[in-house]
Amino acid sequence: MSLPQVRELRTEIPGPLSTSLQQRRSAAVAAGVSSVLPVYITEASGGVLRDVDGNSLIDLGSGIAVTSVGNAAPEVVEAVREQVAEFTHTCFMVTPHENYVAVCEELAELTPGEHAKRTALFNSGAEAVENAVKIARRATGRPAVVAFDHAYHGRTNLTMALTAKSKPYKHGFGPFAPEVYRAPMSYPARDGRSGVDSAREAIERIEKQLGADTVAAVLIEPVQGEGGFIEPAPDFLPELASWCAENGVLLIADEIQTGFCRTGSWFACDHEGVVPDIITMAKGIAGGLPLAAVTGRAELMDAMPPSSLGGTYGGNPLACAAALGSIRAMREQDLSAAARGIEEQVLPRLRALAESSDRILEARGRGAMLAVEFVRPGGDEPDPELAAAVAKSCHAQGVVVLTCGTYGNVIRLLPPLVIGGELLGEGIDVLERAIAEHAG
Ligand SMILES: *Cc1c(COP(=O)(O)O)cnc(C)c1O
Repeated sequence: MSLPQVRELRTEIPGPLSTSLQQRRSAAVAAGVSSVLPVYITEASGGVLRDVDGNSLIDLGSGIAVTSVGNAAPEVVEAVREQVAEFTHTCFMVTPHENYVAVCEELAELTPGEHAKRTALFNSGAEAVENAVKIARRATGRPAVVAFDHAYHGRTNLTMALTAKSKPYKHGFGPFAPEVYRAPMSYPARDGRSGVDSAREAIERIEKQLGADTVAAVLIEPVQGEGGFIEPAPDFLPELASWCAENGVLLIADEIQTGFCRTGSWFACDHEGVVPDIITMAKGIAGGLPLAAVTGRAELMDAMPPSSLGGTYGGNPLACAAALGSIRAMREQDLSAAARGIEEQVLPRLRALAESSDRILEARGRGAMLAVEFVRPGGDEPDPELAAAVAKSCHAQGVVVLTCGTYGNVIRLLPPLVIGGELLGEGIDVLERAIAEHAG
């Protein structure tokens, strides 16, 4: 890694140069695009971000679960460097190139299930979800799509409709795409129910309100991301999956945040042996270059007529080279095992914090997708102000953490999977002190 893997603060955070860039920004950049921590980055490597003021910060966010192989990972940098000098773009729909095919071959092998698969490549997660729904509707000839409470699927018109949370994602941006229906999610920390009971409730809702034969697809994040790192109770997903299979409803797993070793296996569905019909991927797929994918059963994918799928940039040569480099790094360094190691190092510490404070409803997570959910004293009422205060303290100390949750009351950790144990431990020390300071 080209930067020393240490935290080093030379100024306050954000420093004077970041602050002046922030002023320049507000006169040029749309206000609706905001930043969690406005330090302007000049260099990054492994688990460290360096800013314009010379500060080195510990990255526990990975640009929202993207740089799982580490920032500027050598395997990605080399692959992109070679590719950019050879050719930058052809448009796969005009004249194809080999690496697009190679990425699709990799995804057929890595995604859950042994069936024949086909893949189409896109640029962003939202675009992948849009296409998964588009394919499901055409393949089944049915209109309805079911999404869940607390779901997040993107910011385009259809994916806003699929996303549960109104502010800031949807409020005032309607009207939304039709034929999207919402079902209750299993949220063990809050509902205390078994996975089977929660799944039966969701299924009953779908059967009563829609009838199974109008439903093209059930779309679900196997562990919800923006909604609060909500891991459904065991058997929730398998129960839904078998109902889908019995009723000709396609199961679409949105693994955009959970995919590519993040939860300690290639995909979160692997943990319960769930095999989705269609899976959407993006974020961690290409080490930071924009790439997204939809992989599905061959007969569904191949039922789409020629030219009905695609886009100018989808499967861009640089992004495909980056994906091949980052998948190779995941394999060679066994980053699923690394994610499980991060869980072993961090989750017991978070659980100990939860034991000692009545302001933490739960510490939870799987692999390197870990979270702490804050509540007001003496109950389970969400406390977003506390989560924000803890995050702010971490930021001031040079540790990048993110919040999430329908109620904004969750601190989430998404460290790069290659982060060193010492650097990670130091980041968690800072988080622990911040929690003690605000919630002790
Ligand atoms: C981030 C995310 C998306 C949207 O991806 P973009 O690349 O931001 O469009 C969709 N689904 C899930 C689960 C995500 O985490």
